[in-house]
Amino acid sequence: MRTATPLPCTLAGMTEARQVALRDAAALLAARGLSWTVRRFGRGATSLPGLAAARLAPGIDARLAANLRGAALVTGTNGKTSTAKMLATIVSGIGHPVIANASGANLRQSIGTVFVNATTLRGRFRKRNTYAVLEVDEAALPAVRPAVPGAVLVMTNLFRDQLDRFGETDHLVRLWTTMLSEDQAGATIVFCADDPRVTRLAQIAGEHGARLIPYGFAGAPDRTSAAELTPEPVTCPSCGAELGRAWTAIGHLGDYLCAACGFARPQPAVTVEIVERNGLTGQRLRFAWQDAAGTQIEEVDLQLPGLGNAYNAGGAVAAAIGLGLDARAAVGALAAAVPPFARFEHFTVDGRTIVLSLLKNPATMAELTSVAQGARLDRMVVALNDAFADGRDVSWYWDCSPADLVAGRPYRLTGRRAADFAVRLKYALADDPAQDPAGYLGLVDDPTEAVDRTIAEAPRDGTVLVVATYTALLGIRAAFAARGAIPPMPR
Ligand SMILES: [Zn+2]
Repeated sequence: MRTATPLPCTLAGMTEARQVALRDAAALLAARGLSWTVRRFGRGATSLPGLAAARLAPGIDARLAANLRGAALVTGTNGKTSTAKMLATIVSGIGHPVIANASGANLRQSIGTVFVNATTLRGRFRKRNTYAVLEVDEAALPAVRPAVPGAVLVMTNLFRDQLDRFGETDHLVRLWTTMLSEDQAGATIVFCADDPRVTRLAQIAGEHGARLIPYGFAGAPDRTSAAELTPEPVTCPSCGAELGRAWTAIGHLGDYLCAACGFARPQPAVTVEIVERNGLTGQRLRFAWQDAAGTQIEEVDLQLPGLGNAYNAGGAVAAAIGLGLDARAAVGALAAAVPPFARFEHFTVDGRTIVLSLLKNPATMAELTSVAQGARLDRMVVALNDAFADGRDVSWYWDCSPADLVAGRPYRLTGRRAADFAVRLKYALADDPAQDPAGYLGLVDDPTEAVDRTIAEAPRDGTVLVVATYTALLGIRAAFAARGAIPPMPR
C-alpha cells in the first residue's frame, strides 16, 4: 500500500526548479508588500525588501539578474555615482529600459530591492531587454558580484577617502585581489588605466581569462590649476619599487612606468580628451576607440565640467562597449547626461547661475579648484560641517591647499567648522604672498543665510559657486527646493 502522499500544495511533489520558482514568487510577494509598507514610513525602503527576499529565497537576486539583458557594476572611490549615472543615461538614450540604484543604496540588499521592485512575481523584468546599472560600495563588491552574475565590472579608481578611514585602500586591494583571483573566465572588466593599483587588479582578472577594457586620458591633460592634490605615495603594485611618472591628471592618476619590473600603464581601449572647457557648467570631450574599421573619433558637449567628469565619461563609454552597445551612439547619448546631486549641479536664481558642489576630501578640493580656476566666478560660499555624514574629522583640508580655490574672488565662509577653515585659509594664503586676501566677505553662521546674502550681492547674470560638506549641502539644497528653484532630492 502506498503511504499517504503529501498534499499537492506542499513542495515535496514538485520538481526542484518549480519549487525554486514558487519560493521566489512567495518571496517577491512578501518583499513587494514590505516595500509598499516601508515606503509609507520612509525608512529602510532601499534595503529591507531585498533583505527579506534573500532571506525567504536565498540566491533570488542572481536568479532575477539572469533575466536582465545586461548589467554593469560601477565601483571605486571617486566618480562611481557620476559614472553610473552617465552609463544609465547612455543605455536609456540608446533606447533600452534601465534600472539603477539610488546613490548611497549600494549594498547587496539594496540591489536586491531594485530587482524586487522591477520584476513581476514570475521573476521577469516588467520591461523587455532591461539593463541594470548599479553603483556598488567598494567594500561590498565581493558580496554583490555573485548577486549579478556576468555583470560588466567598472573600476574607476582607488583614493584615500576621509582620514578616519585611513588604511582602507590597502584593505580593499587585498579584498579585490582575492575576489578577482577566483574570477571565472568570461568576465568583462572596465577599468581606469591611469590608476596603477586598479590596473594591477584588472591584470589579475585578465590572468584568469577576463576581457579587459582600459580607459584613460589620451595624454597629459592641460591643467589650469596650480592646486595639486598631495600625491598619495603609490609604489609599483607589482614589485613595490618606486613608480616613475610621465604625467599626472588627478592625484596619482596618470601615465606611469616601473623601471624595476616593467609594470606600465596599458594603452587605453577608449581615450578621452578635453577639447574645450565651458566654465563650471560643462566641457567638450573627444573620445577615440578602435573597431574593425580602425580608429574611431567622436566628440560631445558634456554638461559636467572637470577632469574627474572627463574620466567618468570615459568610463561610461568603455562600459557601454563592454555591454555590447554602439560606441558612437554611446558618446552621442552623453549629451543628455546631467550632474547628479551636488556634483556641479547648476540652476538659475534671479538671473544668477548657482552651482552646487560637494566638498568632502582632498580629491574633491583639487577638482573644484581646477574647475573654478578656468571659470568665470563672481562669488563663492564655502560651507563646512562636521556631523557624522560629513566625516567628523575634517582635518583633510590640511592635506591640500584651499588658497587657489578662493584666489582672486570674493568668498564667504559658513557652517560649524567655518572658523577652523578660516584659520586654514589664513595659513594657506600666508604661504603664498601673491594671493590677495581682500576677497574675504566674512563668516555667517547659518549656511542658507550665507548663500542668500552672497547671491544678493552677486551681479545679475553672474555665477555663484557653493561648495559644502554633505549635511551643509543638504540644508542649502533643501532651501532652494522649498522655493521651487530645483526639484527636491529623490527619496
Ligand atoms: Zn615594479
